[in-house]
Order: sequence, then structure tokens, then C-alpha cells
Amino acid sequence: CGIVGYAGKEQADEFLLAGLKRLEYRGYDSAGIATLGDECVNVIKCKGSLDELEDCMETDNTAGEIGIGHTRWATHGVPADCNAHPHQGCEDRFALVHNGIIENYQKLKQDLLERGHKFDSETDTEVLAHLLEEEHESDVLQAMRSMREKIEGSYALAVVDREDSGGIYVLRQASPLVIGEGEDANFLASDIPALLEYTKDFYVLEDGDMAVIDEDEIDIYPGNGQAVEERYFHADWDA
Ligand code: GLU
Repeated sequence: CGIVGYAGKEQADEFLLAGLKRLEYRGYDSAGIATLGDECVNVIKCKGSLDELEDCMETDNTAGEIGIGHTRWATHGVPADCNAHPHQGCEDRFALVHNGIIENYQKLKQDLLERGHKFDSETDTEVLAHLLEEEHESDVLQAMRSMREKIEGSYALAVVDREDSGGIYVLRQASPLVIGEGEDANFLASDIPALLEYTKDFYVLEDGDMAVIDEDEIDIYPGNGQAVEERYFHADWDA
């Protein structure tokens, strides 16, 4: 179970696959990626190994310079293509990857079903994609902020929005997530070693933190009101 993300000038897919391989040691049963194309989100995911994901990526469209990736260790819903991440809501507008457990997902899902949402998976994670759609009024940060009030549990979450080429939106609570600052790109991963080949400058997110990363900028909104510098960490060891 791990998360990676890339926002830069190159195609994201190559980094995403390499990053997920570096997180393989954490264990997983499924994997997937989403890239932000020209006003579309390309989602490729499957049960099984990263080799299987790589095969799918060869035939599917993965174009995009912003992308997120996920290796899943199933907690809710069996290992299956439909339960693999990224997940999307009814409008297929957002694609999101999640590590952790949404403790109150059953109640949330029940309410969403009553309001007409249709679900494609048995995961706790999919409720987040539907909630984001419902909560979205102005932008993803605002939607994540209001979603955060409704969800309980642990989450490292990364979101891309088809309508917003402005980057990757992240939210963290009780699951690890770090941002790596590069020259022409910024990165996201569940741990520092996964990114050491690309950078030594990190922002280690803490509970309640939200952030947006694009190729040039890293904007962090600390959940506890601390200064952003508190999150900075220079890794002076080698990959
Ligand atoms: N609870 C989510 C699921 O079962 C995420 C699991 C994970 O952290 O990989 O899909």
C-alpha cells in the first residue's frame, strides 16, 4: 500500500511506475494510476502485479504531465479490478488514491446511495470520490476541507481534477505522505526512500495537512497552523 504522484514537464507515467516499484516492499494486491490529460482523466488499474499494470499501460492512453499512482492492500472489498484505485465518482471528474481506512464509510455510503449515487466498488475509498463531487463548490481544496469534516479514520489522499490542470491535491491524516521538491517537477510518495533518486528536499506532511503541488510550486496548508518550514526535511543520505 503506497501512493506516488508527479507534477512536472515530462510525461508522468514513467515516474509513476518506477515510484510504485519502489513502494512494492510495503506489499500490495492491486495497482493503478491516473494521469491528467487534456480535459480528461486517464485511469488504468488492475488486480495483480505491477507487471500487469505495465502491460495495461502499454495499450491504454496514459498521456499527461500530472499523475497519481497507488498500490492497494485491500481492507474493504476483495482484491479485484473494480476495487483497485484510483476511484472516481459519478461524474468521473475526480480521480483519487487513498491509503488508510474510512471508519464511517458505511453510513456515508448509505446516505450517498439514498441521494442517487451509484457505486462501482466495495471499497471504503469510493465514498471519498462521491463526497468530493457533492462538496465541490469552488475548488478541490474547498471540497477537501468540507469533506474532512464528514470523514473519520486514516487517510493519505491524492486527487486530480479533470477540470483543473493546476496540480495534485493532497490531504493527510494518520497515514504517511511526503512531498519531494525537484528542479522541474514536484513529487509525492508514501515514504522518502521512494523519491531519493529525484530529490533530497522534502516536506513531511502531518495530520490535518492539505497541500497542492504542481510543476513549479508546493503549497502546504498545515492542519495545526504551524509554519510550513516546520514540515521541511533535507535528507543527506543516498538512495
Ligand atoms: N481502504 C482502502 C481499500 O481497501 C485502501 C487500502 C490501502 O491503504 O491500500 O481500498
